[in-house]
Amino acid sequence: MKTSGDVTIVGAGPVGLLLACELALQGVRTTVLERLTTQAGTIKAQMISGRTVEMLAMRGLGPAIDAASAAETANLAWRGRTTGHFAGLFKLDGLELLMLTQQALERVLEARAGELGVEIRRGVEVTDLDLGSEYVIGCDGGRSTVRKLAGIEFAGTGPTLTGYQAIVDLDGELDRGWHHTPTGVYASGPLKGRIMMIEYDGPPATRDVTRDTLEASLRRISGRDVHITAVHTATSWTDNTRQATTYRKGNVLLAGDAAHVHSPFGGQGLNLGLQDAMNLGWKLATGDSALIDTYTAERHPVADRVLHNTMAQVALTRPDPQARELYALFGDLLDLPDVKRRISAMVQGTDIRYDTGCAHPLAGTFVPGLDLSDGKGTTIVLDGEEATIRPDGYVEWVGAR
Ligand SMILES: Cc1cc2nc3c(=O)[nH]c(=O)nc-3n(C[C@H](O)[C@H](O)[C@H](O)COP(=O)(O)OP(=O)(O)OC[C@H]3O[C@@H](n4cnc5c(N)ncnc54)[C@H](O)[C@@H]3O)c2cc1C
Repeated sequence: MKTSGDVTIVGAGPVGLLLACELALQGVRTTVLERLTTQAGTIKAQMISGRTVEMLAMRGLGPAIDAASAAETANLAWRGRTTGHFAGLFKLDGLELLMLTQQALERVLEARAGELGVEIRRGVEVTDLDLGSEYVIGCDGGRSTVRKLAGIEFAGTGPTLTGYQAIVDLDGELDRGWHHTPTGVYASGPLKGRIMMIEYDGPPATRDVTRDTLEASLRRISGRDVHITAVHTATSWTDNTRQATTYRKGNVLLAGDAAHVHSPFGGQGLNLGLQDAMNLGWKLATGDSALIDTYTAERHPVADRVLHNTMAQVALTRPDPQARELYALFGDLLDLPDVKRRISAMVQGTDIRYDTGCAHPLAGTFVPGLDLSDGKGTTIVLDGEEATIRPDGYVEWVGAR
């Protein structure tokens, strides 16, 4: 298959779409190939992190995501603010999350990609890598065909649990929030009709999620005679935890779930992938191979840390008595300001510091509030010194070189 772009992105999920926008902003001819003919309606992420909000605002997408969020939350009873959770412990502080479903974010990004002249070809399933472009980027999710075709190892651990997330109609009400029981965890809200269940007895036998499967799981965990009268959208998930050993092999690169998968604890996967896209776009546009290699060097350790913290969250939420004690102890520790700050920054990705070769403590950190909507870096004064900022909003260098 031949595409018209210099770069071909496989997968029009949120990461592929943002990367396409980033490349187009840099003047790179980009084609996105997506096997689905229309956007997937399956419920996944419902919120984006504060750092992702800042990043999208930096590109001028603030009003669009605010409007999309306002439209989605207009009829929501829940008006609480959240800074996220660790293993269901809602004790984090720092940047607030924005309620915005993954589908709504994808619509915003697809519209922007269209404005920037990206060609998105739907109904095209990629089965080989001979796409005729200079670079092929696999943004094709956890089961990435691109990763497999490129022969990149996906190292890690297999699934130990079954999770479900769905929007349903219930006969009766469930208490809002997370509930731990001797058979697992269930949660309700904040979106109307949203339920989430986790059972720690291995992966699901099948990927099909039916009304009966959801109802049986919810009954087993909650111990209540609940009736699900309708299912609007549903998905199952596991704690399969794996990472590509490299994000680049020749002219093939990976971003998002294609590069790393883990359980959705703490709501980190989407944000991780979007920040991969921001890191890769401007580097790829330069065509500088050594600079492109810094993509793996900078982003691999960031995902590695998320993989580790999501595994820890799985261990903390297990229903056995020993794990419940560990959970209680960890909950107490999270009341300590230093612990709270450290875990919050880790889950929200606000403590990321890339090694840019400059020893200044602000080098390699993100600067919020900049207008980099033209995709170009800038120079500002930080700490009384001149600082150069990369197109992704991170400080390259502070002071004289
Ligand atoms: C239940 C659940 C809840 C979650 N909650 C959160 C949350 O709260 N916060 C958070 O940050 N993250 C969350 N996540 C994770 C988040 O949904 C993923 O990290 C995100 O979808 C990754 O985006 P992506 O673009 O990398 O991949 P995907 O969204 O998987 O997109 C990949 C795209 O590639 C296409 N594709 C695949 N193969 C091919 C092929 N061969 N040819 C052409 N196209 C192909 C697919 O059709 C798809 O459109 C959750 C995930 C789940 C399952």
